[in-house]
Amino acid sequence: MSIGVDPDFILDLKKFGVADASICFNCGNCTAVCSLSTETTPFPRKTIRYLQLGAREKLLQSPEPWLCYYCGDCTETCPRDANPGEVMMGLRRYLTTKYDWTGISRLFYTSKLFEVMAILVVALLVGFGFYFFHGPMLTDRVALNVFAPNTVIEILDLIMLGVLGILLLSNGYRMFKAVTGDPAQYRLSDKEDKQPPRGILIRGIPLSLFIAEFKEFVIHFFTQKKFASCDTDTQRMQWFVHLLIMSGYTIVFMLVVVGIRWFQRDEIYSIWNPIRLLGYYSTFAILYGTTYAIVGRLRKSKPVYEHTHSSDWAFLILLWLTTFTGILIHFTRLLEMPLSTYTIYVIHLMIAVPMLVIEVPFAKWTHQLYRPMIQYLMKVRERALANNS
Ligand code: SF4
Ligand code: SF4
Repeated sequence: MSIGVDPDFILDLKKFGVADASICFNCGNCTAVCSLSTETTPFPRKTIRYLQLGAREKLLQSPEPWLCYYCGDCTETCPRDANPGEVMMGLRRYLTTKYDWTGISRLFYTSKLFEVMAILVVALLVGFGFYFFHGPMLTDRVALNVFAPNTVIEILDLIMLGVLGILLLSNGYRMFKAVTGDPAQYRLSDKEDKQPPRGILIRGIPLSLFIAEFKEFVIHFFTQKKFASCDTDTQRMQWFVHLLIMSGYTIVFMLVVVGIRWFQRDEIYSIWNPIRLLGYYSTFAILYGTTYAIVGRLRKSKPVYEHTHSSDWAFLILLWLTTFTGILIHFTRLLEMPLSTYTIYVIHLMIAVPMLVIEVPFAKWTHQLYRPMIQYLMKVRERALANNS
């Protein structure tokens, strides 16, 4: 089967942090050491070979970049210093921009100016919104729900959730189409003695298989269990930090976007209240995880932290600052400091909202959807092929 090649592809990928792929001489060391590479989906050597050949379409259809969890093992053992782990990471950035139909993701990943301006513009919109439309500022007590009624915030949250959901799911659908775009990967056998699959088919695979295996998506979404199967202590620590950030972020996202009427109350919940405990857990998890990752990147303490794209910094810093200002709000409320509470609340949202509207549909947080989706599709493919063997 012939494949289209684009000689400029490797140059284009430099903008996404793929710097060293051309020096790889395809020895295969990286694939041999990677504990996540399998016979049916070997990587990263094959992926890098596609990249060197400029096989853009082949890479678009490849699940492999999403199967790598960037432990850095392959980078440590590459005899050419081609940094295969970072190549896979850069490819994930590139693929994220290809799935995104708005073009914002590409601008975000390839222009630092756009990245900074996008964050600033959204932050200023939030700030001006509060400046012009905030409620009365009572100073005899902390009355956050008078200053910013949770019923109004709830409506704005739900609008934001709807827009983010449509963007993310439509991008997820484009990923699905791209990854299942090569019929040879999923096609059921042409053998004459086989019955063609019955029922509703999606890309040649029965819908019933997609439904039966959906649990794979849920399991991988909540546990990132493939990451845990990397087999050294350093890698397990990476998985743990990843899990902390992801679980803390997911919980706090649910609390502030869906459960704001219970989360943002003027009375202080008792210490054992489940909502307060969830708030404490997510605060600890995100603060620990992001601080660990920031310090690691500053010290370049392991291969995975040696190259940091500006989008990674933006994500970590925004998340850390959102959490830190959230803690400050908690203390100013406990210490009954009304004006400080209102001011920090506005600053908190000026950081949190850009992080949500830019990171969730266009940048690093898309991985939270794409990775479990790929694991799910791999399982569906495995079942489809097994049924037909
Ligand atoms: S990236 Fe390095 S280890 Fe992997 S095939 Fe290329 S030269 Fe070999
Ligand atoms: S970074 Fe780790 S998971 Fe990714 S390809 Fe290299 S060895 Fe495999």
